[in-house]
Amino acid sequence: MEHVRRWLLRLREPWINWRARRLADPVRRLRYLRRATVFPPLPNRVPKLLLVLTCTAAGAALFIPGHPGLLLREVAPPPPPAQLVVQQAASHQSDVWLVDSREGQYEIYSNGLRLETAGTVAYLPRAWRRIMRPSLAQSELRADPIGIIYHTTESHIAPFDPDHTARLKRVGQWLIDYLRKERSYHYLIDRFGRVHRIVRESDAAGHAGRSVWADDSSVYINLNHEFLGVAFESATQSGDQPSDSVTSAQIRSARALTEMLRARYRISTVNCVTHAQVSVNPLNHRIGNHTDWASNFPFLELGLPDNYELPVAALEIFGFGYDQDFVTATGGRLWKGLLLTEERVRQAASAEGVSVMPYRARLKEKYRKQLAELPASGESKEKAI
Ligand SMILES: [Zn+2]
Repeated sequence: MEHVRRWLLRLREPWINWRARRLADPVRRLRYLRRATVFPPLPNRVPKLLLVLTCTAAGAALFIPGHPGLLLREVAPPPPPAQLVVQQAASHQSDVWLVDSREGQYEIYSNGLRLETAGTVAYLPRAWRRIMRPSLAQSELRADPIGIIYHTTESHIAPFDPDHTARLKRVGQWLIDYLRKERSYHYLIDRFGRVHRIVRESDAAGHAGRSVWADDSSVYINLNHEFLGVAFESATQSGDQPSDSVTSAQIRSARALTEMLRARYRISTVNCVTHAQVSVNPLNHRIGNHTDWASNFPFLELGLPDNYELPVAALEIFGFGYDQDFVTATGGRLWKGLLLTEERVRQAASAEGVSVMPYRARLKEKYRKQLAELPASGESKEKAI
Protein backbone atom coordinates (compact mmCIF):
# COMPACT_ATOMS: atom_id res chain seq x y z
CA MET A 1 0.00 0.00 0.00
CA GLU A 2 2.92 2.33 0.55
CA HIS A 3 3.27 3.22 -3.12
CA VAL A 4 -0.43 4.11 -3.27
CA ARG A 5 -0.06 6.35 -0.24
CA ARG A 6 2.85 8.11 -1.93
CA TRP A 7 0.83 8.58 -5.14
CA LEU A 8 -2.01 10.15 -3.20
CA LEU A 9 0.36 12.38 -1.28
CA ARG A 10 2.00 13.58 -4.49
CA LEU A 11 -1.41 14.42 -5.97
CA ARG A 12 -2.09 16.75 -3.06
CA GLU A 13 1.34 18.32 -3.12
CA PRO A 14 0.64 21.48 -5.21
CA TRP A 15 -2.35 22.28 -2.98
CA ILE A 16 -0.30 21.69 0.18
CA ASN A 17 2.52 23.90 -1.05
CA TRP A 18 0.08 26.67 -2.02
CA ARG A 19 -1.49 26.64 1.42
CA ALA A 20 1.92 26.52 3.11
CA ARG A 21 3.05 29.64 1.27
CA ARG A 22 0.06 31.52 2.67
CA LEU A 23 1.14 30.90 6.28
CA ALA A 24 3.34 33.78 7.38
CA ASP A 25 4.64 32.22 10.57
CA PRO A 26 7.50 29.85 9.69
CA VAL A 27 6.99 27.43 12.55
CA ARG A 28 3.24 27.23 11.87
CA ARG A 29 4.09 26.62 8.21
CA LEU A 30 6.43 23.73 8.91
CA ARG A 31 3.97 22.30 11.40
CA TYR A 32 1.26 22.47 8.74
CA LEU A 33 3.55 20.86 6.15
CA ARG A 34 4.40 18.08 8.48
CA ARG A 35 0.76 17.42 9.37
CA ALA A 36 -0.51 17.72 5.81
CA THR A 37 2.05 15.40 4.29
CA VAL A 38 1.46 12.57 6.72
CA PHE A 39 -1.33 10.92 4.78
CA PRO A 40 -3.97 9.15 6.87
CA PRO A 41 -3.75 5.34 6.70
CA LEU A 42 -5.68 3.75 3.88
CA PRO A 43 -8.43 1.34 4.81
CA ASN A 44 -7.42 -2.29 4.46
CA ARG A 45 -9.78 -2.79 1.54
CA VAL A 46 -9.68 0.03 -1.00
CA PRO A 47 -12.06 -0.47 -3.95
CA LYS A 48 -9.99 -1.53 -6.93
CA LEU A 49 -11.70 0.95 -9.27
CA LEU A 50 -10.82 3.85 -6.95
CA LEU A 51 -7.18 2.79 -6.88
CA VAL A 52 -7.04 2.51 -10.67
CA LEU A 53 -8.66 5.93 -11.13
CA THR A 54 -6.40 7.52 -8.56
CA CYS A 55 -3.24 6.05 -9.99
CA THR A 56 -4.31 6.97 -13.53
CA ALA A 57 -4.97 10.56 -12.51
CA ALA A 58 -1.65 10.76 -10.73
CA GLY A 59 0.13 9.31 -13.74
CA ALA A 60 -1.55 11.84 -16.02
CA ALA A 61 -0.54 14.69 -13.75
CA LEU A 62 3.09 13.72 -14.17
CA PHE A 63 2.90 14.53 -17.87
CA ILE A 64 0.99 17.82 -17.72
CA PRO A 65 3.20 20.37 -19.49
CA GLY A 66 4.58 22.87 -17.03
CA HIS A 67 3.59 20.79 -14.02
CA PRO A 68 6.24 21.14 -11.37
CA GLY A 69 6.75 17.38 -11.15
CA LEU A 70 5.50 15.07 -8.46
CA LEU A 71 8.51 12.98 -7.64
CA LEU A 72 9.27 13.18 -3.94
CA ARG A 73 10.59 16.71 -3.79
CA GLU A 74 12.12 18.80 -1.11
CA VAL A 75 9.68 20.73 1.05
CA ALA A 76 8.81 24.13 -0.44
CA PRO A 77 11.07 26.81 1.03
CA PRO A 78 9.16 29.10 3.35
CA PRO A 79 9.40 32.90 3.18
CA PRO A 80 11.93 34.78 5.30
CA PRO A 81 11.57 34.28 9.06
CA ALA A 82 12.75 37.74 9.99
CA GLN A 83 12.46 37.15 13.73
CA LEU A 84 14.81 34.16 13.75
CA VAL A 85 18.24 34.75 15.15
CA VAL A 86 20.96 32.40 16.27
CA GLN A 87 21.30 32.64 20.01
CA GLN A 88 24.48 31.37 21.57
CA ALA A 89 24.88 31.02 25.30
CA ALA A 90 28.03 32.36 26.86
CA SER A 91 30.72 29.90 25.89
CA HIS A 92 32.80 30.24 29.04
CA GLN A 93 33.91 26.81 30.17
CA SER A 94 35.63 26.44 33.50
CA ASP A 95 38.44 23.94 33.83
CA VAL A 96 37.76 20.33 34.59
CA TRP A 97 40.77 18.26 35.61
CA LEU A 98 41.75 14.68 36.33
CA VAL A 99 41.85 14.01 40.07
CA ASP A 100 42.31 10.24 40.24
CA SER A 101 42.87 7.34 37.87
CA ARG A 102 43.93 3.73 37.67
CA GLU A 103 45.53 2.63 34.41
CA GLY A 104 43.13 0.55 32.36
CA GLN A 105 40.33 0.84 34.93
CA TYR A 106 38.91 4.30 35.55
CA GLU A 107 39.46 8.05 35.56
CA ILE A 108 37.75 10.51 37.91
CA TYR A 109 37.45 14.23 37.19
CA SER A 110 36.92 17.32 39.30
CA ASN A 111 33.30 17.74 38.16
CA GLY A 112 32.35 14.25 39.38
CA LEU A 113 32.74 12.52 36.02
CA ARG A 114 33.91 8.91 36.22
CA LEU A 115 35.11 7.17 33.07
CA GLU A 116 35.23 3.39 32.79
CA THR A 117 38.37 2.79 30.72
CA ALA A 118 38.89 -0.99 30.89
CA GLY A 119 38.93 -2.49 27.39
CA THR A 120 39.47 0.81 25.53
CA VAL A 121 40.54 0.10 21.95
CA ALA A 122 42.78 1.91 19.45
CA TYR A 123 41.82 2.75 15.88
CA LEU A 124 43.34 5.16 13.34
CA PRO A 125 45.41 8.08 14.66
CA ARG A 126 43.41 11.27 14.28
CA ALA A 127 44.54 13.47 11.37
CA TRP A 128 42.48 15.99 9.44
CA ARG A 129 42.90 19.20 7.49
CA ARG A 130 41.07 22.41 8.27
CA ILE A 131 38.95 23.75 5.38
CA MET A 132 38.81 27.52 5.70
CA ARG A 133 35.71 29.67 5.23
CA PRO A 134 34.80 31.23 2.90
CA SER A 135 37.60 30.27 0.50
CA LEU A 136 37.27 26.49 1.19
CA ALA A 137 41.03 26.28 0.88
CA GLN A 138 42.62 23.45 2.85
CA SER A 139 44.88 24.56 5.66
CA GLU A 140 46.96 23.03 8.46
CA LEU A 141 46.92 19.37 9.51
CA ARG A 142 45.29 18.83 12.92
CA ALA A 143 45.26 15.99 15.43
CA ASP A 144 42.91 17.43 18.06
CA PRO A 145 39.11 17.03 18.04
CA ILE A 146 37.17 20.18 17.18
CA GLY A 147 33.70 19.07 18.32
CA ILE A 148 31.32 16.44 19.67
CA ILE A 149 28.60 14.55 17.80
CA TYR A 150 25.88 12.96 19.92
CA HIS A 151 24.26 9.70 18.83
CA THR A 152 21.81 7.11 20.00
CA THR A 153 22.82 3.48 19.61
CA GLU A 154 19.39 2.51 18.23
CA SER A 155 19.83 -0.74 20.12
CA HIS A 156 17.35 -2.88 22.00
CA ILE A 157 16.21 -1.06 25.12
CA ALA A 158 15.12 -3.08 28.15
CA PRO A 159 12.50 -1.54 30.48
CA PHE A 160 14.16 0.71 33.05
CA ASP A 161 12.98 -0.70 36.37
CA PRO A 162 14.49 -2.74 39.21
CA ASP A 163 12.97 -6.01 37.97
CA HIS A 164 14.99 -5.71 34.75
CA THR A 165 18.35 -4.86 36.33
CA ALA A 166 20.07 -8.10 35.26
CA ARG A 167 18.77 -7.77 31.71
CA LEU A 168 19.76 -4.08 31.54
CA LYS A 169 23.31 -5.00 32.59
CA ARG A 170 23.50 -7.95 30.18
CA VAL A 171 22.23 -5.96 27.17
CA GLY A 172 24.54 -3.06 28.05
CA GLN A 173 27.60 -5.32 28.15
CA TRP A 174 26.72 -6.91 24.79
CA LEU A 175 26.50 -3.43 23.34
CA ILE A 176 29.89 -2.36 24.75
CA ASP A 177 31.56 -5.52 23.38
CA TYR A 178 30.01 -4.94 19.96
CA LEU A 179 31.00 -1.27 19.81
CA ARG A 180 34.62 -2.01 20.78
CA LYS A 181 34.80 -4.68 18.08
CA GLU A 182 33.44 -2.20 15.52
CA ARG A 183 35.54 0.76 16.76
CA SER A 184 32.35 2.79 17.06
CA TYR A 185 32.16 6.04 19.09
CA HIS A 186 34.59 7.32 21.69
CA TYR A 187 32.12 7.09 24.54
CA LEU A 188 28.99 5.13 25.36
CA ILE A 189 26.72 6.29 28.19
CA ASP A 190 24.82 3.23 29.39
CA ARG A 191 21.33 3.23 30.87
CA PHE A 192 22.66 3.60 34.44
CA GLY A 193 24.68 6.66 33.41
CA ARG A 194 28.05 4.89 33.42
CA VAL A 195 30.42 6.37 30.84
CA HIS A 196 32.50 3.78 28.96
CA ARG A 197 35.45 4.78 26.81
CA ILE A 198 35.22 2.75 23.59
CA VAL A 199 37.92 4.16 21.25
CA ARG A 200 40.74 6.20 22.79
CA GLU A 201 40.46 9.95 22.34
CA SER A 202 43.69 10.28 20.35
CA ASP A 203 42.18 8.16 17.54
CA ALA A 204 39.33 8.57 15.08
CA ALA A 205 36.27 6.37 15.67
CA GLY A 206 33.61 5.20 13.22
CA HIS A 207 30.49 7.22 13.99
CA ALA A 208 29.75 10.19 11.74
CA GLY A 209 30.06 8.75 8.22
CA ARG A 210 29.20 11.03 5.34
CA SER A 211 28.62 14.32 7.10
CA VAL A 212 29.09 18.08 6.96
CA TRP A 213 29.35 20.77 9.63
CA ALA A 214 30.80 24.26 9.93
CA ASP A 215 31.60 26.97 12.44
CA ASP A 216 32.49 30.60 11.76
CA SER A 217 36.01 29.85 10.54
CA SER A 218 35.96 26.33 9.08
CA VAL A 219 34.00 23.68 7.21
CA TYR A 220 34.25 20.00 8.15
CA ILE A 221 33.50 17.11 5.80
CA ASN A 222 33.12 13.48 6.95
CA LEU A 223 33.67 14.02 10.61
CA ASN A 224 35.08 10.83 12.11
CA HIS A 225 38.46 12.47 12.62
CA GLU A 226 37.31 15.98 13.42
CA PHE A 227 34.63 15.15 16.01
CA LEU A 228 34.40 12.92 19.07
CA GLY A 229 31.45 10.51 19.05
CA VAL A 230 29.32 10.25 22.22
CA ALA A 231 26.47 7.73 22.13
CA PHE A 232 23.55 7.27 24.48
CA GLU A 233 22.37 3.68 24.88
CA SER A 234 18.96 4.65 23.59
CA ALA A 235 16.60 4.66 20.62
CA THR A 236 15.48 7.65 18.55
CA GLN A 237 11.95 8.94 18.93
CA SER A 238 10.57 11.20 16.21
CA GLY A 239 8.76 14.47 16.66
CA ASP A 240 8.37 16.69 19.69
CA GLN A 241 7.42 14.01 22.19
CA PRO A 242 10.05 13.87 24.97
CA SER A 243 12.10 10.70 24.70
CA ASP A 244 11.47 8.12 27.40
CA SER A 245 14.45 6.06 26.31
CA VAL A 246 17.03 8.30 28.00
CA THR A 247 17.40 8.18 31.76
CA SER A 248 18.14 11.13 34.05
CA ALA A 249 21.39 9.37 35.02
CA GLN A 250 22.45 9.40 31.37
CA ILE A 251 21.73 13.11 31.07
CA ARG A 252 23.71 13.94 34.22
CA SER A 253 26.68 11.94 32.94
CA ALA A 254 26.44 13.43 29.45
CA ARG A 255 26.63 16.90 30.98
CA ALA A 256 29.74 16.01 33.01
CA LEU A 257 31.37 14.32 30.00
CA THR A 258 30.59 17.32 27.77
CA GLU A 259 32.09 19.69 30.35
CA MET A 260 35.28 17.63 30.55
CA LEU A 261 35.73 17.26 26.78
CA ARG A 262 34.99 20.93 26.13
CA ALA A 263 37.49 21.98 28.80
CA ARG A 264 40.19 19.56 27.62
CA TYR A 265 39.99 20.46 23.90
CA ARG A 266 38.52 23.99 24.13
CA ILE A 267 35.52 22.88 22.08
CA SER A 268 33.10 25.62 21.03
CA THR A 269 29.41 25.16 21.78
CA VAL A 270 28.56 25.49 18.06
CA ASN A 271 30.49 22.29 17.44
CA CYS A 272 28.42 20.23 19.89
CA VAL A 273 25.70 18.83 17.63
CA THR A 274 23.68 15.70 16.91
CA HIS A 275 24.20 13.12 14.18
CA ALA A 276 20.95 14.15 12.47
CA GLN A 277 22.25 17.72 12.11
CA VAL A 278 25.37 16.67 10.21
CA SER A 279 24.53 13.42 8.36
CA VAL A 280 24.25 13.66 4.56
CA ASN A 281 23.62 11.38 1.62
CA PRO A 282 25.86 12.48 -1.28
CA LEU A 283 23.99 10.22 -3.74
CA ASN A 284 20.72 12.16 -3.59
CA HIS A 285 22.27 15.30 -2.10
CA ARG A 286 19.96 15.36 0.91
CA ILE A 287 20.63 15.71 4.61
CA GLY A 288 19.33 13.29 7.22
CA ASN A 289 20.90 10.03 6.08
CA HIS A 290 21.06 9.20 9.79
CA THR A 291 18.36 10.72 11.97
CA ASP A 292 19.48 9.86 15.50
CA TRP A 293 18.70 12.83 17.76
CA ALA A 294 16.74 14.59 14.98
CA SER A 295 14.61 15.88 17.86
CA ASN A 296 14.48 16.04 21.63
CA PHE A 297 18.20 16.30 22.28
CA PRO A 298 18.62 17.79 25.77
CA PHE A 299 21.02 20.59 24.79
CA LEU A 300 20.04 22.85 27.69
CA GLU A 301 20.31 20.07 30.26
CA LEU A 302 23.87 19.45 29.02
CA GLY A 303 24.81 23.09 29.58
CA LEU A 304 24.69 23.93 25.85
CA PRO A 305 22.57 26.41 23.89
CA ASP A 306 19.75 24.93 21.81
CA ASN A 307 21.93 24.12 18.80
CA TYR A 308 18.93 22.91 16.79
CA GLU A 309 18.55 26.63 16.03
CA LEU A 310 21.91 26.78 14.26
CA PRO A 311 21.94 26.91 10.45
CA VAL A 312 22.38 23.50 8.83
CA ALA A 313 25.84 23.64 7.26
CA ALA A 314 25.22 21.12 4.46
CA LEU A 315 22.29 23.21 3.20
CA GLU A 316 23.97 26.58 3.53
CA ILE A 317 27.44 25.78 2.23
CA PHE A 318 26.95 22.87 -0.15
CA GLY A 319 23.35 23.24 -1.38
CA PHE A 320 21.95 20.04 0.13
CA GLY A 321 18.17 19.65 0.39
CA TYR A 322 15.85 17.69 2.65
CA ASP A 323 12.70 15.68 2.13
CA GLN A 324 9.50 14.95 3.97
CA ASP A 325 10.99 11.92 5.71
CA PHE A 326 13.49 14.21 7.41
CA VAL A 327 10.87 16.77 8.42
CA THR A 328 8.79 13.95 9.90
CA ALA A 329 11.76 12.77 11.97
CA THR A 330 12.50 16.23 13.36
CA GLY A 331 10.76 18.38 15.91
CA GLY A 332 9.91 22.10 15.89
CA ARG A 333 13.26 23.07 17.41
CA LEU A 334 15.27 21.82 14.44
CA TRP A 335 12.83 23.47 12.04
CA LYS A 336 14.10 26.84 13.27
CA GLY A 337 17.57 25.91 12.06
CA LEU A 338 16.20 24.75 8.71
CA LEU A 339 14.24 27.95 8.22
CA LEU A 340 17.19 30.13 9.15
CA THR A 341 19.30 28.25 6.62
CA GLU A 342 16.70 28.62 3.86
CA GLU A 343 16.70 32.35 4.47
CA ARG A 344 20.48 32.59 4.37
CA VAL A 345 20.58 30.67 1.07
CA ARG A 346 17.96 33.00 -0.40
CA GLN A 347 19.90 36.08 0.70
CA ALA A 348 23.19 34.71 -0.65
CA ALA A 349 21.58 33.87 -4.00
CA SER A 350 20.07 37.34 -4.16
CA ALA A 351 23.46 38.92 -3.40
CA GLU A 352 24.90 37.05 -6.38
CA GLY A 353 21.99 38.11 -8.58
CA VAL A 354 20.70 34.62 -9.29
CA SER A 355 17.68 32.61 -8.20
CA VAL A 356 17.98 29.91 -5.55
CA MET A 357 18.12 26.91 -7.87
CA PRO A 358 21.18 27.86 -9.92
CA TYR A 359 22.82 29.16 -6.74
CA ARG A 360 22.33 25.79 -5.07
CA ALA A 361 23.69 24.06 -8.17
CA ARG A 362 26.90 26.08 -7.69
CA LEU A 363 27.07 25.01 -4.04
CA LYS A 364 26.63 21.35 -4.99
CA GLU A 365 29.51 21.68 -7.42
CA LYS A 366 31.67 23.06 -4.59
CA TYR A 367 30.83 19.98 -2.50
CA ARG A 368 31.81 17.62 -5.31
CA LYS A 369 35.08 19.50 -5.71
CA GLN A 370 35.82 19.32 -1.98
CA LEU A 371 35.09 15.58 -1.91
CA ALA A 372 37.48 15.02 -4.78
CA GLU A 373 40.19 16.95 -2.93
CA LEU A 374 39.80 15.10 0.38
CA PRO A 375 42.78 12.89 1.12
CA ALA A 376 41.96 9.19 0.93
CA SER A 377 41.87 8.21 4.58
CA GLY A 378 40.25 4.82 4.42
CA GLU A 379 37.22 3.42 6.18
CA SER A 380 37.47 5.64 9.21
CA LYS A 381 36.50 8.76 7.26
CA GLU A 382 33.13 7.39 6.20
CA LYS A 383 32.11 4.77 8.74
CA ALA A 384 28.87 5.64 10.51
CA ILE A 385 26.70 4.24 13.29
ZN1 LIG B 1 24.55 8.17 14.85
